[in-house]
Amino acid sequence: MVTITLDGKQLEVDGKRTIIEAAREHGIEIPHFCWHPKLSVAGNCRICLVEVEKLPKLVIACATQVADGMVVHTNTPKVVNAREAVMEFLLINHPLDCPICDEAGECKLQDYAYKLSVGYSRFDENKVHKPKRVALGPHVMLDTERCIMCSRCVRFCEEIAHKPQLTFSQRGDHVELTTFPGEQLDNPYSMNTIDICPVGALTSRDFRFKARVWEMSATETVCPGCARGCNMYSWVRNNEILRQTPRFNPEVNEYWMCDAGRLGTFKHVNSDGRIKAPLMKKDAGVVEVGWDEAISRVVSEIRTFRKNFAAIGSAYATNEDNYLFQKFAREVLGTKHIDFMRHVVEGEQDDILLREDKTPNSLGAVEVGVRPKDGGLSFDGIVKAIKERQIKAMYIIDDNVAINPTVAAALQKLEFLVVNSSLENETTRLADVVLPSSTFAERHGTFTNFQGRVQRIRPSVATLEQDRALDGFAMSRLDAFGTPHDRWAKGVKRDARPTWRIIAAIASAMGTKYKYNTSEDVFNELASTVGSFKGMSYRKLGSWGMKLKAGVAVPA
Ligand code: SF4
Ligand code: SF4
Repeated sequence: MVTITLDGKQLEVDGKRTIIEAAREHGIEIPHFCWHPKLSVAGNCRICLVEVEKLPKLVIACATQVADGMVVHTNTPKVVNAREAVMEFLLINHPLDCPICDEAGECKLQDYAYKLSVGYSRFDENKVHKPKRVALGPHVMLDTERCIMCSRCVRFCEEIAHKPQLTFSQRGDHVELTTFPGEQLDNPYSMNTIDICPVGALTSRDFRFKARVWEMSATETVCPGCARGCNMYSWVRNNEILRQTPRFNPEVNEYWMCDAGRLGTFKHVNSDGRIKAPLMKKDAGVVEVGWDEAISRVVSEIRTFRKNFAAIGSAYATNEDNYLFQKFAREVLGTKHIDFMRHVVEGEQDDILLREDKTPNSLGAVEVGVRPKDGGLSFDGIVKAIKERQIKAMYIIDDNVAINPTVAAALQKLEFLVVNSSLENETTRLADVVLPSSTFAERHGTFTNFQGRVQRIRPSVATLEQDRALDGFAMSRLDAFGTPHDRWAKGVKRDARPTWRIIAAIASAMGTKYKYNTSEDVFNELASTVGSFKGMSYRKLGSWGMKLKAGVAVPA
């Protein structure tokens, strides 16, 4: 450790740190464009110039290591003049088209232009014009004029995605970002370049021009696309998710997420394929019915088939849903045949983020008890037992198990099938009763990732039920500036309920009172009964989650 003085404050810092890192660790932000905490130092934007006593010239804070006794000033007239000059150079050829730029409102160049620039330009020559719409790959669009050549995107592709696909061509003020010949920006992590681009040069082809950042709210949640559980923000306007962006978690995903998770996990929330109301098979076919009618049919079938039931939990459902479901299966359905289906895609894994297990909570499902115990049958055993007519009825939550043709063929032999599902699919088409469950984007709850980290998910869009009962819902709402607000309350809302609440309603109708008002009540019971969750609470999980208690076996 060494001692430095930064703007008059004495700081104890690690001697291996650069000035910008040491300052940041103590909450002091030195302006920067090209520097990023997880990329190599390029030192090309020069906006982080600072004055160090006894050195003849200003130095860049991103590339200057601290030394014992160093005295650093970040706001002397010399530093301020130098920053103004850097900003003047950067803005000479910048198009200044903020009113139509997707980045406006979250753009470093815009922010620094207000904070660090003189507010007018002395340049009255013609600006250099460059291509405005270059599709670099399937997901990323480049506005070449807006690029300030910081090289963050180039370094990201080389150093994080391990796919060198971007480079610069030409010289001087004609420099342009481009892809290598024959390449396009199509690595599985390509959209992270949009997040780290400090200006509006790189934009999402999916999100471009859909909303201004100040019109949306951003909710802290977790990607359900695989067992990594990348932390992310869900951005919503009028109760519709418009984009998802990574949220920093040093233990899980650092600053990144994959393109598949970012784009592929939210469009179903507002799709036409949602189950709009409870469905029931009747003589006239499948009809929409009220919740009371659907639940009383399920209750009467449970009474008929009790002990001939099997229960299929889900690696897509939360720990709370799975915990209550297995409890219900054992106490109310009277079955020990409880398991869930794995969704592993062999080979679709890398050493960056992506996992072969394409579900967010398989470890959690096992931990909370969705597994056969005391002689109960496994998933494959249950499928076999249906074919042999030993199991006659089944309850499935939140998983399209009939996507597998062998399973679909077995389900057709059941005498009664009830399914909780948010979407119409192969499994709901075979069901006698379908109860509309909310999606991950409409639920409070937790997922346990492959590392055993239990993390909160929070609703970013509202259902009709949440509208009526709130369910602690408004607590998690923050707009782009971190202030709670209620713009989300507009827009289409679905009549869907979290699985734990549906299960509790059926149990109550059967005479078993489950007294939970919120998912937090279920979690608190889970944390007091399942050893590996001991000591956890929603408050303690916070933004980054907590690991399951040590000594807990992590299944392969
Ligand atoms: S496109 Fe953005 S991230 Fe890439 S070099 Fe230009 S300004 Fe930097
Ligand atoms: S790696 Fe997995 S959890 Fe992370 S963004 Fe991709 S799909 Fe989602």
